[in-house]
Amino acid sequence: MSATAASLRTDDVSGAPANDEREALARRLAAKHAGDDALEILRAAIKEEFPDRIALVSSFGAESAVLLHLVSRIDKSLPVIFLETGKHFAQTLSYRKKLANRLGLTDVRDIRPSKEALTFRDPAGDLWKHDADACCTLRKVEPLSGALDDFGAWITGRKQFHGGGRLHLPAFEASPTHIKVNPLARWSKEDIDAYVEEHDLPAHPLTAQGYPSIGCWPCTHPAAAGEDIRAGRWRGAAKTECGIHGR
Ligand code: SF4
Repeated sequence: MSATAASLRTDDVSGAPANDEREALARRLAAKHAGDDALEILRAAIKEEFPDRIALVSSFGAESAVLLHLVSRIDKSLPVIFLETGKHFAQTLSYRKKLANRLGLTDVRDIRPSKEALTFRDPAGDLWKHDADACCTLRKVEPLSGALDDFGAWITGRKQFHGGGRLHLPAFEASPTHIKVNPLARWSKEDIDAYVEEHDLPAHPLTAQGYPSIGCWPCTHPAAAGEDIRAGRWRGAAKTECGIHGR
C-alpha cells in the first residue's frame, strides 16, 4: 500500500478511510496514475495501493471478458464478485463458468440476496414488474454492500463511452464507503473490440443476438444499430442504473 493510503485513519468495517479523506485519496490516485494504461492502473491498485483489500465486481456481461482478462494477467486469485440475482439469462450463467475456467480465476464469488429477504420482500419473484429500484436494491445493492465489507476498494468495468453519468468517469473515484477503480474509463468500443480480438476472448452468447449490454433477463432487451449501448436496459423506463453506483 502506498504511504498515503496506509496512513489514513479508518472509520468503517471495510477499513476504508473517512469520506473526506477518501475523496482526497481518489483525487491523488487519479493524478498519480493519470498517464498509466489500464494494466498499469490495475497492477498499482491490486499490488501497491490496496493489496488484499480490493475485489473486482463483474456482471460477466457483453464487455466483461476484457477486464477479467486484464486482472487474470496480474492475479488470478483476486476476488471476483458476481451478483447472482436469480434473474440472469441462462447464457450468462454458463458464460460465467466458461470464462472463469478459461482465465483460471480461482475466487469467483456468487453473491445472492438472503432467502429471508427474498421471501419477505419478493415472495412471487416479480418485484421487478412493480418496483425495479426496490428489486435492484434487494438483489444487487444490498448483497454487494455486504460482500464488500472486507474490502477498501473495488474495480468496475464502467466506461465513459457508455454515456449518461459515465461521461466524465475518472480512473479513481470515491464512494461513501469505498474507492472505486475504473481502469477502462477512457476505453472506446474500438479499444474493447481490438483487445478481444488480440486475446481471442470468447463473446457472451447474447451479443450475437443484438444485446450490447446484458443484465437480468426481465430488464434487458436488444438495442438497435445506432442506439446507445445501454438503450436496452430497463427499456421504456426512466431508470438507467441498478443502483450499485448510485441512481
Ligand atoms: S435488473 Fe431487473 S430483475 Fe435484476 S435486480 Fe434489477 S429490477 Fe430486478
